[in-house]
Parts: sequence; structure tokens; C-alpha cells
Amino acid sequence: MRIEISGTHFPLETLGPGRRLGVWLQGCPLACAGCMSRHTWAPGGGTGSSVRELLDLWRDALDRGAQGLTVSGGEPLEQARALEEFLAGADRLRDEAARARGVRDGPRPDFLVYTGYEQEEWDPPRLRALRHADAVIAGRFRIAEPTGLVWRGSANQRLLPRTALGRERYAPHLGRRSTGRAVEIVVEPGQEPGEAPTAHLLGVPARGELVFYERWLEGNGLRLRGRSWRP
Ligand code: SF4
Repeated sequence: MRIEISGTHFPLETLGPGRRLGVWLQGCPLACAGCMSRHTWAPGGGTGSSVRELLDLWRDALDRGAQGLTVSGGEPLEQARALEEFLAGADRLRDEAARARGVRDGPRPDFLVYTGYEQEEWDPPRLRALRHADAVIAGRFRIAEPTGLVWRGSANQRLLPRTALGRERYAPHLGRRSTGRAVEIVVEPGQEPGEAPTAHLLGVPARGELVFYERWLEGNGLRLRGRSWRP
């Protein structure tokens, strides 16, 4: 099945516990003011991929010791069928990896999904898409409601464990404030000869930090890709 993505990254350490595979889906109609990912809004503005290709990435991440999978966007529930298929396949692969290691009851990688849709807006297709999500961070980003809660961009966003694994892994973080590094900087070489390398930010920066990062990167000869929180 086709799936439109904005990007992937491993290891991601700022959106969920441990070293994770990050997958950002393309397309979001919610248009939150202050969104730092405006480049993910246009439904056709990403990279065409397939669920099979993403599962290959997940298999590779498991081989490299991934402790979790985070799906963000964009709005993942705009591609509910593809997300359902991806998480179902990812669930099978984590079971296979556990059997291969002979650790049926050992630590399992968890699945965390970000969505701007509130729980009350999850219709049957969206609920099916989240069937294998161990935890969900739900709610629009509201720029007027800053928060220090770990992995959340605004105070209204709720961290919702949905499985036994999710409850076990996320219970310590429900009210925890962010203390460590909240943002990772990923640098990519320029596309053309002589073009400056670009950087993008992964994570949930505190209010005002984006401008700080932008200046710091420019001071180090790096261009922030897209500056995508600007209209
Ligand atoms: S913050 Fe999330 S839900 Fe809101 S517009 Fe940006 S990508 Fe969409």
C-alpha cells in the first residue's frame, strides 16, 4: 500500500523513550497556528513510499536495537488505512524479533503515535489505525498554551497509554517535565556542489527556542531546512 511520508530517522531520541525509529507522515489539514512543521501540510508535498518500505526500515531498526517506533507528521490519521497496515506489520515484526531473541516476556519496543485529533474525533477508521499504538499523544498544538511536559508541544495535548505495554512504559512520563535534550539536530549535505549543508530539528522545542536554533545554525554555516514554522 502507498504511503506519503515527510521523512524518517533512526535513532530518534527526543520523541518518546529510548532509541526509536521516527516516521513522519505527509499531509495535515489542521493548520495549527505556530506549527513547526508547515512543510508537512500539503498532502502531495512529501515522498511517495510504501508500507513495505517502511517495514523494511523498522526491521532494520529492530536489528539495530530500536526500543520504540514514533509516528508523527503531518497528521498520521489522514492516512488511516496505510497507518493501520504499517502498525499491524510493525507489530508482527516486533513479535518475530522477540521470538528470535528468545525473550518473549522481555522488553518490547513500543509504538507511539502523535495526532492533532482529539480522542473524541477518532472515528472507526482512525480507531482501527491506532489499534496497535501503545500510546498516543493527542490534541492540536496551541501556541498560547506552552508546557514543560515531556514530548508535548502544548499543555492541552494528552499522553494516552492504550495497552499494557504503553501503561508500563509511559506511566512514569505522564506528568514528567522535560529535563534532558528536547531537540536533535540532523545535518544533511547540500544537494548541489557548493551548496551549504542543511539542518533539521527533531523533537519538541520550548517556546522561543526555534529562533535560537536558527541563529545558532546560521552562525555555524548551516541552513535550517524549510524554516517551516514561518507562514
Ligand atoms: S501541529 Fe501537528 S496537527 Fe497541528 S498543523 Fe502542525 S502537523 Fe498538523
